[in-house]
Amino acid sequence: MCRHLAWLGAPRSLSALLLDPGHGLLRQSWQPRRQRHGTVNADGWGVGWWSPARAEPARWRSPRPMWADASLLSVAPHVSATCVVAAVRSATTGMPADETACAPFARGRWLLSHNGRVDRAVLPAAAWPAAESVCDSAVLASWLLEDPADLAARIRTAGAADPGARLNVLLADGERLLATTWGDTLSLLVAPGGVVLASEPYDDDPSWRDVPDRVLVTVAPDGVTLEPLDVP
Ligand code: GLN
Repeated sequence: MCRHLAWLGAPRSLSALLLDPGHGLLRQSWQPRRQRHGTVNADGWGVGWWSPARAEPARWRSPRPMWADASLLSVAPHVSATCVVAAVRSATTGMPADETACAPFARGRWLLSHNGRVDRAVLPAAAWPAAESVCDSAVLASWLLEDPADLAARIRTAGAADPGARLNVLLADGERLLATTWGDTLSLLVAPGGVVLASEPYDDDPSWRDVPDRVLVTVAPDGVTLEPLDVP
């Protein structure tokens, strides 16, 4: 199980979001606190963010552990954004170990991260050609990004077809965040200036809330909503 994080709010630097918190994604890459599957997240990492000049996000991914990308320490304080999606990866057995298998996956203005696993055989064959990798998460992303408005129904469909699937996903388009819980942890922090969704709290602020399992979370400038996912 990987760990992921998204921010929507006032401009915040990548270092403030990923590197500086005591238990941020950098620390979670070698010492997560709530991970149920896998122990470290050393099989790569990625981050994407939107800038006012362009609709499509920038993306930086690497197959190395986050702690091994020394240039990130130098660049991260200089990059600030109102919307950010990031992940550290613990590869599922049998999945490729290269940059293209690391979240976030992209299509148009959307980014997607997946914490979990899914049997690729239950995903529609039509999603394969546009997938960035043969990794289960990339094929899932390709299918979900065909129609982000259909996210809840597609997660239910995949979950029903593969009862062993874990389907915590995080999507963003620069103006809103969508997240699902289906088999793993997710926490929500309404912070001064914005909202954080993260696989686990990046610090010990008592304002973090655990999101229940099988929920769709929507974060938009006008607020946060949680809806049950297993009720069609
Ligand atoms: N299945 C995905 C992969 O292999 C995600 C793994 C995870 O969440 N740990 O990268």
